[in-house]
Amino acid sequence: MKAILDHVGIAVQDLGTALAFYRDALGLEIEAPEEVRAQRVRAHFIPVGQSALELLEATATDSAIAKYIEKRGPGLHHITLRVPDIRGALAQLKARGVRLVDDEPRPGAEGSLVAFVHPSAAHGVLVELKEPARPLVEQPVTRLSWGHLQLTTVSDGSFRLDGGSMFGIVPRPIWEQKAPPDDRGRIVLAMRALVIEADWGRMIIDCGAGDKLDAKRTDIFGVDRTRNLDHTLAEAGVARDAIDIALPTHLHFDHFGGAVVRAAGGLAPRFHRARHVIRRGEWNDALHPHERSRGSYIREDVAPLEAAGVVDFFDDDREIEPGVRVVRACGHTAHHQVVFIESGGKTAVCAADVVPTAAHIQDLWITAFDLFPMDSFAFKQRFLREAIDREYLIFFAHDPSIAAGYIREKDGKRTVEKVI
Ligand SMILES: [Zn+2]
Ligand SMILES: [Zn+2]
Repeated sequence: MKAILDHVGIAVQDLGTALAFYRDALGLEIEAPEEVRAQRVRAHFIPVGQSALELLEATATDSAIAKYIEKRGPGLHHITLRVPDIRGALAQLKARGVRLVDDEPRPGAEGSLVAFVHPSAAHGVLVELKEPARPLVEQPVTRLSWGHLQLTTVSDGSFRLDGGSMFGIVPRPIWEQKAPPDDRGRIVLAMRALVIEADWGRMIIDCGAGDKLDAKRTDIFGVDRTRNLDHTLAEAGVARDAIDIALPTHLHFDHFGGAVVRAAGGLAPRFHRARHVIRRGEWNDALHPHERSRGSYIREDVAPLEAAGVVDFFDDDREIEPGVRVVRACGHTAHHQVVFIESGGKTAVCAADVVPTAAHIQDLWITAFDLFPMDSFAFKQRFLREAIDREYLIFFAHDPSIAAGYIREKDGKRTVEKVI
């Protein structure tokens, strides 16, 4: 296992006296404190070269740090080792009979994954393992064999949406542990698409926001397309004109805006050889939005497709091509659909905005953008049960670090086992 010392955690009783030593006497620089509300501590990081010291201050008498100080006095509390693959590290430790506090990694600060090793196994030291989140721009294009099909995740960069809106009725102290907001309250989201290669051709499911957003929207949504769909498709070895079918889960700008691009003669289909297979109800809603849905549908994302004569409409759930079928999942929009990909006895699902990130694996974690939340809830409750029981691989369109994974349930607690 390759491990780097990330930081050393020090429990302090009185921050003022601690600062008198670390900041004033040693002359080290202290970063702005970070409040970890769930653990009722405030963390002050002090960078020292490749690692850091972390001064931990209790914010309530029942916090673990307060109890630690009460029992043992202030001092060294834990060391944190940075590992590239935390699940691999835990498996290795388990195989050697090492006692762990966490069998499964849990979400830490800034999208990292963390797990504690029991101090009794580490000779009296509380050891934390940490796998830092990989920035979206570094995430590789990943290919997966799925029966007779090849699945490749590609991405159109990232954007940001209000964290509160993304998590609906979930209180902020709970969701912000899974998705820390920026100074404007927004959380980072991926815009992922999926390419399916089969003997019947190549299909792309969703295709990101594309390049048509104006400066105002680009700023509001914090769009970052420095590594976009063109780059990731090229990395995957898929040319634009190699796409035979473009299939949207729904027509929100962050999912299908990329289907139309600016071209010499005006707006044109990006995948010019492709048939665009679109549910008629969703099409009508996208072209005739009401006040509540107007923010997410952009006319110029879709209208040019019909003008170019590249759209095939359909009305009901159906098989699009062998192994690929769509199921209406009303709620987020009236005609939002999920895409089942079935081959070799295995099932994968592009769940799109029904389960936008790995944090949305609870029935009630439904975005405030959903037009019909009770319909979302009814579908989601049924779908997640099925996904867990039948072990569907779920593709998360918006999760910044997990492209696909299995939802596991143990003692009523759900987690995502990351696959890619
Ligand atoms: Zn949407
Ligand atoms: Zn979305």
